[in-house]
Amino acid sequence: MHHRAPFTVTTLGTGAALPARGRYPTAQLLQVSGGTYLIDCGEGTQERLRAIGFNFQRISDIFISHLHGDHFLGLMGLISSMHLMGRQQPLTIHGPKELQEIIGVQLRASATYLRYPLHMKAVPHASGVVLMEDEHVVVTTLALLHRIPCTGFVFRERPGPLRLRPDRVHSIPKFRRNAVKSGEDLNLGEAELIPNAELTLPPLPPRAYAYCSDTAYAPSLIPYLRGVDLLYHEATFTVAMAARAKETMHSTAEQAALIARDAAVGRLLLGHFSSRYKSADVLLTEARPVFPNTELSYEGGVFHIG
Ligand SMILES: [Zn+2]
Repeated sequence: MHHRAPFTVTTLGTGAALPARGRYPTAQLLQVSGGTYLIDCGEGTQERLRAIGFNFQRISDIFISHLHGDHFLGLMGLISSMHLMGRQQPLTIHGPKELQEIIGVQLRASATYLRYPLHMKAVPHASGVVLMEDEHVVVTTLALLHRIPCTGFVFRERPGPLRLRPDRVHSIPKFRRNAVKSGEDLNLGEAELIPNAELTLPPLPPRAYAYCSDTAYAPSLIPYLRGVDLLYHEATFTVAMAARAKETMHSTAEQAALIARDAAVGRLLLGHFSSRYKSADVLLTEARPVFPNTELSYEGGVFHIG
């Protein structure tokens, strides 16, 4: 009876700037109880969505972290295919403010008049700003440290209803259960009023997913990552390449693990692997001593949140 709706992230691409064979640039599909969101949209994302058999018209919002090509070059193709396939429902794109101009010039130059409303929302480069709220999630920002403004996102589930106590549920008439879940007392006639607190348990804690796109080691993020069940953090390099990581404003796998450990998140998911690593196992090996509950993302991987 305390069944929870699935809350999952599907990693469509796990490569860095120049993806190695078999890897694709960054894109993730996030699904929570009927809400469907795309996070970053590297080249070929629409093909990756087709490959997993997902109808991309269901996506309501797209979140773009920054304007390096491996994180957004698939966007125009996806916008265009949605149009050609007859989309009518609105699409909202949250991203750096320049994105409106980048998309706008391409639509104008091709005299494309979209059949659906396209809303462009500028994302501030700051932490803790509420970007979007719908009936499923609240999305807030993370100010990452990269060569150009780069913003990460925290997706926090809306708190669910009160839960009926298993030992009392049978004393509540079925047609009154929703009212009790919403906090009402149970009135069983003039003589008997049962206070809500005797019938219910608090809602399950809301689950949360955090997406740390391209970033140098950024302990400033830690306060915003507390309580996160699953943290995706880029891990472009091994420790041997720490100088290169610093110079390009990326992280080593060990630095990703330090962030996960210090924020006490539930689980860490690594991605954005440099093409110099044919297998990402070397990155996992460096992260796990610092934060054991670490996994590698992979193309088409589905990861449960909470
Ligand atoms: Zn980048």
